[in-house]
Amino acid sequence: MVPYASTIFSEMSALAVQTGATIFSEMSALAVQTGAVNLGQGFPDAEGPGFLVEAACRAVREGHNQYAPRAGIPELRRAIADHQRRYYDLEVDPDSQVVVTVGATEAIAAAILALVAPGDEVVTFEPFYDSYPAMVARAGGVLRTVRLRFPDHALDESALAAAFSDRTRVVLLNTPHNPTGKVFTADELAVVADLARRHDAWIVTDEVYEHLVLDGPGHVPMATLPEAADRTLTVSSAGKTFSMTGWKVGWATGPAELVAATLAVKQWLTFTASGPFQYAVADGLTHGDEWYDTLVAELRARRDQLLDGLAAAGIPTNHPAATYFAIADLSGLGVRRALAQLPEFARERGVVGVPVSAFHTGEAVEETGSLVRLAFCKSPELLAEGLERLARPGA
Ligand code: PMP
Ligand code: GLN
Repeated sequence: MVPYASTIFSEMSALAVQTGATIFSEMSALAVQTGAVNLGQGFPDAEGPGFLVEAACRAVREGHNQYAPRAGIPELRRAIADHQRRYYDLEVDPDSQVVVTVGATEAIAAAILALVAPGDEVVTFEPFYDSYPAMVARAGGVLRTVRLRFPDHALDESALAAAFSDRTRVVLLNTPHNPTGKVFTADELAVVADLARRHDAWIVTDEVYEHLVLDGPGHVPMATLPEAADRTLTVSSAGKTFSMTGWKVGWATGPAELVAATLAVKQWLTFTASGPFQYAVADGLTHGDEWYDTLVAELRARRDQLLDGLAAAGIPTNHPAATYFAIADLSGLGVRRALAQLPEFARERGVVGVPVSAFHTGEAVEETGSLVRLAFCKSPELLAEGLERLARPGA
């Protein structure tokens, strides 16, 4: 008899990780179940660019349907290297310093499994993206987190310094940051890089929202800091850049030894990412700026629609400079422990978001109980409907 997954996992107590569905899957299922407006899981409801769809169809028709090389097709690796040079003046060798992965998720997983040994410490900010604690636990590592506090999510330098120790092996950064929409400044990155250098730690930086900066000074890749370049693995993804989250084409770039270590694990996870989509993404990355400009203008309008609507309803929020997400404090609507209350809230109010406490540990879980992440990468009509339901008195 095949044992249930939970039985198998419970036997692996040293590597015990959360085995239930992710919070995003749960919240999307809740929205379907209740017919609520889904402002939870971060996927845009508008299609990505038509030229990319055409490029994917062409790649299938032209017969790119067998295994791609394990590090990715040369066309895409070159396009990624060109992208890094064009936008950030970064030189990466497409043959030894780029690996194509199944979304950023696989790049993060492979990097953590490659770099973190049991007992090693990983420093990250919280709220964090949910795959970070899951993968650090799977590697047997210990997560050391530093709080970014609503609504400003400012960097607390002394708390950051205190999170480092002689066991720190990796700093796991995310900029622009999900779920806060924070874009780390060059000065903030320099503080992180300096600590990483002093503790001789690797930096894995998740920059999937690099092209989704809506205002402010813009995205600064960690790898552009000279003191960080030789210890930084940069992760990104076509999912966010081209509004094609289902394509799952991501990549990691950086020093050859870090890329080789990531690839060495990646080859046993999936071996290679889907071939035709790699051709299409190569096309997208060499297509010019027009798409990025359109995307940012639309997202900015949607963000402002959501923030203005929430302000008009008297609901406090942060002011995200990037990403798909805003954070709202729903205590005025009776939300105190969003994780437990959201099913009822979805039924009564008809709106689903993601409880911010799902991205926290320890006492922060309780303290962030009234905060809910709302995605604005949705149609104006859907946002208007969601806002109308949130503003309704005493639902
Ligand atoms: N990192 C962050 C911060 C994310 O928000 C997401 C979700 N898109 C991912 C990684 C995963 O990206 P992908 O869908 O390319 O695996
Ligand atoms: N990145 C998306 C979010 O933050 C979700 C991705 C997923 O469902 N794993 O909503």
